[in-house]
Amino acid sequence: MERDSMDSPRRGGRSEQKLRAIIVGGSIAGLSCAHALLKSGVCRVMVLEKARALTGSSHGAGLGVDAAACEALEDWGLRDKLFLKSKPLDREENRAIDTERKVFITLASDAEYRHRAAQWSELHRILRDSLPPGIVHFDHEAISFEENADGRGIKVTVAEGGNTQSVKEVEGDFIVAADGSMSRTRQYYVPGDKRRYAGYCAWRGVFDYTNEPEIHESIRSIYPDIGHCLYFDISRGTHAVLYELPGKRLNWLWYVNQPEPVLKGNSVTVHPDEDVIARMHEAADRSWVPALAQLIKATPQPFINAIFDRNPLKQLVFKRVVLVGEAAHPTTPHGLRSTNMSILDAQSLGKSLAKWGRDNLDSALGEYEMRRLNATSQQLLFSRHLGSLKQGLLFEPKGSFPWHTADEGMVEGLLQRNMNFFQWRC
Ligand SMILES: Cc1cc2nc3c(=O)[nH]c(=O)nc-3n(C[C@H](O)[C@H](O)[C@H](O)COP(=O)(O)OP(=O)(O)OC[C@H]3O[C@@H](n4cnc5c(N)ncnc54)[C@H](O)[C@@H]3O)c2cc1C
Repeated sequence: MERDSMDSPRRGGRSEQKLRAIIVGGSIAGLSCAHALLKSGVCRVMVLEKARALTGSSHGAGLGVDAAACEALEDWGLRDKLFLKSKPLDREENRAIDTERKVFITLASDAEYRHRAAQWSELHRILRDSLPPGIVHFDHEAISFEENADGRGIKVTVAEGGNTQSVKEVEGDFIVAADGSMSRTRQYYVPGDKRRYAGYCAWRGVFDYTNEPEIHESIRSIYPDIGHCLYFDISRGTHAVLYELPGKRLNWLWYVNQPEPVLKGNSVTVHPDEDVIARMHEAADRSWVPALAQLIKATPQPFINAIFDRNPLKQLVFKRVVLVGEAAHPTTPHGLRSTNMSILDAQSLGKSLAKWGRDNLDSALGEYEMRRLNATSQQLLFSRHLGSLKQGLLFEPKGSFPWHTADEGMVEGLLQRNMNFFQWRC
């Protein structure tokens, strides 16, 4: 069996005295951890990513980066790159749609929202391209790991090029498990932990209006702050999300209550056929104001994501294995938490390591867990609540947010700023 360079004995120069961190997963959480751990000054880092390349589509879907996550990116020297490739989301606005009259009523808004809208693939590219060469290893799948007998180190068996016959071992001081919502690492430590279907799916699409400016004009007539506002429209037993991405792209999601769909493997994505899309287009006319329905109908290749989360864990650190990102707290998207929690996990882990130094790894990991477990658990549960609220699942008879009779307190509860630790710095 081959051995990797991280496996070199610890003697000699300064870099060899550093802690050896093996990060499993090279998506947003894994790459953020690579930046944060390098920044800590006490770690050498290797990222193992099983995919051949993780570029995503250059026209990929969007995400919102909050002010605290922007500060973390700034810490890693990436602020300017992010700002170049993102648009402001200064405001969150929640509106009710009167489906009879096809008009909207503004329910609640937050003018201090302070997020940035970016494409997933751009954020991923920024994180990846700004790491030193030789850190990220694509086409490397971690297939198992084993603690050393003295409990102080850990060995990861890695398959290259999808070939489980040709494996090598990498030895490190600790593992950062950033292997996503279907994390095998989490499964190992929390066997029987199941994902929870939220009760609805999201239709999603991104529309490039470069050649159809009239669609943008009609959206702007109803959503005047598009380009710097995140809109939530609430209709009967459903809600939609709309915001603009750089490059003249309108990003929308539409949540539909339905039984759990049949899915292939671990994927949560369904690519519907033309009949299903045609039925969705008819329903769009019934549910939304004409401008949004027109945008949805004009979007090529919309797809469906089934929405899941998992219950919060009681711990994030298992001896020398640390869970981060979706592996630690898979969440529903309503609080825009998935990416933000991942970035803040990374920042918190890096700061704890810097504080405790290479000789106090257990204390550093303990501090990370103490700082992140409470915040992420509450945010996960708040996101779950927000989804149920906006989908009308909390009310009897089930099916609608009662905006006609809702008082001030109830509409205030639609805003993300009511989430504990919102925009909270590590
Ligand atoms: C290709 C892609 C496109 C995405 N697009 C969007 C988007 O447009 N909008 C949005 O909001 N979110 C998107 N996401 C999800 C988003 O990145 C995450 O939900 C969130 O940012 C937290 O990410 P994560 O790194 O914890 O988990 P994930 O993004 O799920 O990444 C987990 C990573 O671990 C890797 N991995 C898993 N097991 C192993 C193993 N054994 N060995 C090595 N590697 C392993 C996976 O290949 C994956 O790259 C996308 C994710 C991916 C992978």
